[in-house]
Amino acid sequence: MAGEVLIVAEQVHGEIAKVTYELLGEGRKLADKLKSPLSCFILGHNMESQLEKIAQTGVDKIYLADHEELAEYKTLTYRRVIIEEIDTWQTAPHTLLMGSTTVGRDLAPRIAAYYETGLTADTIELDIGPYEHKAGIDKTKIGYFPECLYANRPSFGESLKARILGPWKDPQMATIRPGVFALPKAVEKSVKDLEIKKVKVELKPEDFRVKIAKILREESSKMDISEADVIVSGGFGLGSEESFSLLQELADCFQNSTIAASRKAVDAGWIAYPYQVGQTGKTVRPKIYIACAISGALQHRVGMQKSDLIIAINKDPDAPIFGFADHGIVGDIFQVIPEMIKQLKTMKEQKELQTA
Ligand code: FAD
Repeated sequence: MAGEVLIVAEQVHGEIAKVTYELLGEGRKLADKLKSPLSCFILGHNMESQLEKIAQTGVDKIYLADHEELAEYKTLTYRRVIIEEIDTWQTAPHTLLMGSTTVGRDLAPRIAAYYETGLTADTIELDIGPYEHKAGIDKTKIGYFPECLYANRPSFGESLKARILGPWKDPQMATIRPGVFALPKAVEKSVKDLEIKKVKVELKPEDFRVKIAKILREESSKMDISEADVIVSGGFGLGSEESFSLLQELADCFQNSTIAASRKAVDAGWIAYPYQVGQTGKTVRPKIYIACAISGALQHRVGMQKSDLIIAINKDPDAPIFGFADHGIVGDIFQVIPEMIKQLKTMKEQKELQTA
């Protein structure tokens, strides 16, 4: 049997990050294909309150490393605890996944380097399947591998999707962008149904070579675009920073909504980077994504294509965005959006009158 599918959890202030749940949902599918257990490695301090919600993802096993020195992420301490634990296993994990976050991007290469295994960064799709390596300079690599991790990611100047394989050594590793996978539906499982292994934490003096002097987290009152139900996103066709106020007015017609942007609008300095959707920005999957004067380049598409409903407004009928939008409006945003706002406000007023 193949080894476990292991998700390394990420936590901030003792709260498990959303991307961990997304990975557990996708990890369940991979583990079922491999007929292997799905496990989650949690490092932190006093994390017990989080376990019930983790159990409801359908995970089979939790590795819990509890120590005050693990309360905040530090590369060397986290690396030490993970590799020392895995080294005690008879079979290495088949697959090891982390979020493509600041932490995951820092930690995953350390683990991959230790095991001299491959690592695919910024993955957007995962699967398990066969691969036959027929030829190559290194003849030791030739062979048939029935259960490879397929890690797909945009490649070649971000214009193609490449499948990256590294079946020669387990764990087969990948980092995955937050927001790419849906959150799993809660299953009827509780901590009592799980195997929980308390991991021994034995840190060495060399794990403290880097000291954290102070952690400064910028608290923003603005909504994280990946949390919004409705996104009104603007592209270079907006022509100026001021035009985003029109988009904001449209966004305000919906609850739990925000504006966002293409990279070209961000690069023009019209809006800040945290609002960027796409390959080098955020991945979003709102209920409604309204793309205003956005051409629909692949790098933008990969960040929003999993939205439930995509509405595109563009004056060019041949704009690529119309190739994958659910509804397309060919027209000038400066005429279409005010009309949409007017209609939405009228609808809202009528609804209020009916309920009065
Ligand atoms: P344009 O391509 O200039 O399109 C503007 C659109 O507006 C046109 O379709 C035009 O018809 C329409 N328009 C103009 N005026 C109006 C009007 N008045 N009314 C209606 N429609 C109008 N892009 C991202 O978005 N996110 C990323 O994360 C990202 N990462 C990248 C990473 C790499 C490595 C590279 C090489 C590129 C990346 N890009 C990214 C850039 C991407 O390739 C496109 O250049 C970018 O998405 C285009 O932005 P846009 O659609 O706003 O602008």
